[in-house]
Amino acid sequence: TKKVKSDIEIANDAYIKPITEIAAELDISDNEIELYGKYKAKLSLDILNRLDQSEDGKLILVTAINPTKAGEGKTTVTVGLADAFTALGEKAMIAMREPSLGPVMGIKGGAAGGGYSQVLPMTEINLHFNGDIHAITAANNTLAALIDNHLHQGNHLCIDPRKIVWKRVVDINDRALRNVVVGLGGPMQGIPREDGFDITVASEIMAVVCLAQDLDDMKERLSRMVVAWTYNDEPVTVQDLGVEGALALLLKDAIKPNIVQTIAHTPALIHGGPFANIAHGCNSAIATRTALKLADYVVTEAGFGADLGAEKFLNIKSRMAGLKPDAVVIVATIRALKMHGGVDKNELGTEDIGALKKGIENLKKHGETISSFGLPFVIALNRFVTDTHLELEVFKGLMEQENIPYALTEVWEKGGAGGTALAESIKQIIDEKENHYAPLYELTHSIEDKITIIAKKVYGAEGVDFTPQARKKLEKFKEQGWDSLPVCMAKTQYSLSDNPNALGRPSGFTITIRDLKPSIGAGFIVALTGDIMTMPGLPKHPAALNMDVTEDGKAIGLF
Ligand code: ADP
Ligand code: MG
Repeated sequence: TKKVKSDIEIANDAYIKPITEIAAELDISDNEIELYGKYKAKLSLDILNRLDQSEDGKLILVTAINPTKAGEGKTTVTVGLADAFTALGEKAMIAMREPSLGPVMGIKGGAAGGGYSQVLPMTEINLHFNGDIHAITAANNTLAALIDNHLHQGNHLCIDPRKIVWKRVVDINDRALRNVVVGLGGPMQGIPREDGFDITVASEIMAVVCLAQDLDDMKERLSRMVVAWTYNDEPVTVQDLGVEGALALLLKDAIKPNIVQTIAHTPALIHGGPFANIAHGCNSAIATRTALKLADYVVTEAGFGADLGAEKFLNIKSRMAGLKPDAVVIVATIRALKMHGGVDKNELGTEDIGALKKGIENLKKHGETISSFGLPFVIALNRFVTDTHLELEVFKGLMEQENIPYALTEVWEKGGAGGTALAESIKQIIDEKENHYAPLYELTHSIEDKITIIAKKVYGAEGVDFTPQARKKLEKFKEQGWDSLPVCMAKTQYSLSDNPNALGRPSGFTITIRDLKPSIGAGFIVALTGDIMTMPGLPKHPAALNMDVTEDGKAIGLF
């Protein structure tokens, strides 16, 4: 029997072209590319100006059903689908997020695709890449130090040290840093206060970099970020501290998209990696816009299931960046569908037709959601070796019976060749189906109405309960004139509801909004349901335990 190669073995064995060759094929000039070694580069923001008048390519969003803990293969399908377009002779490109080091060392492992659908150089992309996340860490912590220095130097802004909301960050899963006390040791060491760390990708600066239109817009967004509240409960912003210039300077290169390639040499822009719970969870607007100018088909991914990632992509990012998506791919797996049909997560490898049929209700709901945005979609069934012949037949039968466009997708095993059916099917729906894309709510709706629309139309909830604390915030934000911002929902990814155990297609439930948080620089109000994790911990057996490096510098144990 053939040994199945691990992701890192496949990546290490793959042929990789110099990135200058990839850029030349896209007619990118020498002045528009900054090399970071031989296989990675950054692209100049001037490309957007040069190609201002050219027509955009087609934009395809990859989303999924509510996932299992392992993920259902959105990134893998994103990469494989772009390679499938390339295999069909189309000019395709990927726009996706950069991996965070925390999850790489923790449970998830890498986030550069899988099997024969990966982006290269896989090791570098998963580790320090071109330094964007490090730059964001530095900018975030510079701001934190400036706030503490402001307290120490007399606090003329009257910041209440108990109401500083700006936290420090590090891009590592480190639960021991969730709550800390800073400024201990006497008058020379600053003002003692409670503080805490978030993971870097949860920093508002990450969301700012991802939603900025250009350097000036980024600076303006940075200046609007609320870092603390005064003793009189007035917001204190970066502009009040006068440091948006320094922060923008630290981020001047991080705002430029990174270009790499897939195993099949399809160009990929990998840029920005905001958390999908506290932020909007998709790559930078600049990268998506640049890719649309350079290619005819751009495949992009949004985090978690369609109730979170796609909702935010379609209500927040597309609206802010002026994007018009052409089609959506909803990734489903037999194993996750069976889980939604009630199978225990340790039994997902066992054939279960009854559970599969029941679980498909979850998929159908996500299809209805995409339709409610006025967009056509195709289901990509991401095939696993554990899927049985009968399960695949039953799934196909149900899709045909309901007239839902569907494609068996085998890109993990076969690369682009395993995704040509999906690519053809997307071309067909773009040509044949109507596209009336529009966000689900207007910015003029109140925050309360925006949340209620999302809960009812996307989650299938009966209604929304606001805790007294959340109600107070609604009032306060209205006073500040923040109620015209879109809403960024923070909810469990495992269920359509706010209860992670309610799988399948729950009904008759309400959503509870526990609290609201202003991300004024990013440009949205975060609505929190349940507890929201902004600093993950490491599991009992972290992925880091499997990692090593060979004498000649090759990675072992990344997956
Ligand atoms: P997502 O983007 O939805 O979180 P990923 O594409 O990162 O999911 O995939 C999660 C993990 O599952 C990766 O390690 C990937 O290699 C693996 N994977 C994806 N599709 C398949 C498949 N069809 N068969 C086996 N493993 C897969
Ligand atoms: Mg992914």
